[in-house]
Amino acid sequence: MTTATFSQHRDIPLTSGRAKTMEANILEIDRLTVAFDGFKALNDLSLSIAQNELRVIIGPNGAGKTTFLDVLCGKTRPSSGQVIFKGQELTRLAEHQIVHAGVARKFQTPSTYEDLTVLENFEISLPQGRGVFGSLLFRRNKEVMDRVMVIATQVFLQDALHTKAGVLSHGQKQWLEIGMLLIQDPELLLLDEPVAGMSPREREQTAELLMAIAPGKSIVVIEHDMEFVKRIARTVTVMHQGTVLCSGSLAEVQNNTRVIEVYLGA
Ligand code: ADP
Ligand code: MG
Repeated sequence: MTTATFSQHRDIPLTSGRAKTMEANILEIDRLTVAFDGFKALNDLSLSIAQNELRVIIGPNGAGKTTFLDVLCGKTRPSSGQVIFKGQELTRLAEHQIVHAGVARKFQTPSTYEDLTVLENFEISLPQGRGVFGSLLFRRNKEVMDRVMVIATQVFLQDALHTKAGVLSHGQKQWLEIGMLLIQDPELLLLDEPVAGMSPREREQTAELLMAIAPGKSIVVIEHDMEFVKRIARTVTVMHQGTVLCSGSLAEVQNNTRVIEVYLGA
């Protein structure tokens, strides 16, 4: 335990951003631009995410947050700029290759298989050919079931394994989809407005869920709900007009005059 803690601290110095080595950053985004018919949805955006960091991104509607995740998961090709994930350039890879590399992305609306049970939804999400579970697809042996139960419990669906996804609440569907990503054991998890449409209690539970998985993963969460952001935030990045306005603690960004102007103007 002591050794693990020590090595973690050695790899990611807690002192200052400058002391962080390149190896500590799982994601390096360099001058990313996305133009739609001349309109720059992303405009020279640069940002880095450290290994096992949980980063919250906020920003007014139209700031380019969703477009940013679209580029990270290969759905949208940038006009220029680089996305380096663990030393590998992502912007030339196909979506399935990016998933294979260890990046999982949750879209704003849940996309589960409504006619299948929770258990079946988990089963079809087991990674194919990636990690030890790949070859076990659809085989309900003990190892697979143990893994499914761990994830189901993490996303509060352990008692709903045989329920059809279509009859779950909106919040439960969101959790199911997060679970379907977690079962692939991604190194980088991208979540676009995960608590939108959730009840206050479900929002609290989602914050607990993220805090539980955060220590072993890099996570980028886009979210508007400031109560939720307050529960999970360490470093917050504010996006505006396709680029980074500022990054810092929640208190720092909330007191930033440019951030206040942008939100008052919006
Ligand atoms: P956010 O998620 O921060 O609200 P988006 O990334 O969805 O912002 O959108 C950023 C801007 O890019 C918006 O002005 C939006 O209208 C525009 N946009 C997004 N996708 C497309 C597209 N496929 N074609 C044209 N414009 C787009
Ligand atoms: Mg969006």
